[in-house]
Amino acid sequence: MSTSDKLFLEAQQYIPGGVNSPVRAWRAVGGNPLFIQRGRGCRVMDADGKEYVDYVGSWGPLIAGHAHPQIVKAIEESLKRGTSFGAPTPKEIELAKAIVDAVPSIEKVRLTSSGTEATMTALRLARGYTQRSKIIKFDGCYHGHSDALLVRAGSGALTLSLPDSHGVPEAFASQTLVAKYNDLTSVAAYFEADPNGIAAIIVEPIAGNMGLVLPKPEFLAELRQLTQQYGALLIFDEVISGFRMGRGGAQELYKLTPDLTCLGKVVGGGMPLAAVGGKREIMDQLAPVGSVYQAGTLSGNPLAVTAGIETLKIINTPGTYERLNELGTMMAEGLRQAIKDTGTLACVNQIGSMFTLFFGVHAVHDRTTAARSDTKAFARYFQGMIERGVYLPPSQFETAFISLAHSEADVQETVAAAKEVLRSMR
Ligand SMILES: *Cc1c(COP(=O)(O)O)cnc(C)c1O
Repeated sequence: MSTSDKLFLEAQQYIPGGVNSPVRAWRAVGGNPLFIQRGRGCRVMDADGKEYVDYVGSWGPLIAGHAHPQIVKAIEESLKRGTSFGAPTPKEIELAKAIVDAVPSIEKVRLTSSGTEATMTALRLARGYTQRSKIIKFDGCYHGHSDALLVRAGSGALTLSLPDSHGVPEAFASQTLVAKYNDLTSVAAYFEADPNGIAAIIVEPIAGNMGLVLPKPEFLAELRQLTQQYGALLIFDEVISGFRMGRGGAQELYKLTPDLTCLGKVVGGGMPLAAVGGKREIMDQLAPVGSVYQAGTLSGNPLAVTAGIETLKIINTPGTYERLNELGTMMAEGLRQAIKDTGTLACVNQIGSMFTLFFGVHAVHDRTTAARSDTKAFARYFQGMIERGVYLPPSQFETAFISLAHSEADVQETVAAAKEVLRSMR
């Protein structure tokens, strides 16, 4: 029995399922999860001392890799001055400014401790601002685990076959209308049926929680048009894409201006920090200026803010996104070639430093096509990759992340390992 196995047994006695977030339990791929003892650069080491090239990256935040010296040093210095004050601190302004500078649609920003809080706050703001109660979300998009958004939420909920969670009152869920990603007709129908009732559309402009799914060229632009037409707000959940698709996130890439944007993951540099931002007029609805309440004991925590600032400095150097794009393209092309060479039925979705290899399907563009993929094949592939020292997200419906700490050699080794595994699966 490995040390990870022993730890997992012990953990299950005290923690539900042995984990503090469901997908970590590897239920979708079988076997016991690895316990990680440390990480450095693009590598993590498990409790038994075995090393892996890591493509989980803490599920997205670690764009600079593990334990980046500049981030570690800054956190150490901040740590010595105290961990939390529950009072404003100067560095919060620095991070807020950096966010406002980088993200085109954000004029003001409120820091939270998790992406869940950011999206929850965005909805409350949208409802407060529009005085309407319904929201539209897309099947397979995940926006954290608040009641209103835990409807058809992808990833963990998908593989655990919990389309909805128990404990979410029907009355809440009924305010959430679920539309099809990359499909305008269902969205338009909701607006036609209730032209003055819908407060907002919330969408992952690049969907990362049903595996990676890219928006069709007109999809997001038409959401912008429809929301404007009906006086609803457009919320971009850029918790994954923010600062990963470029400094300005997906909205910069696709040249669109949402009313509100949720950030998380990269912006917190691996610490618990997220943000919601947008038009000044809407953001000023938040207490203490306005009447939409939102708060947090550890919001804008000095250590987290420090990690965020340093991460943004690291990625705000020339060539960052060119490099991430190059590595991502190299990975996707390598995997596609391996698929071809081994005669595997599979496809690769990729943009920048994000990618997913879907088994058993030719193309994936929404939740329905994602759900057709062969999760058993993915599980075998995942285990084969683990044996070869490559740590992928433990589910078909997740996105793998490349960091600045990965090298061309790492990507080539990963592709070679993938080819070996695909061949062994034939
Ligand atoms: C991870 C994620 C969230 C939730 O963030 P947490 O910090 O886990 O609460 C929200 N939206 C998207 C798109 C995410 O990927």
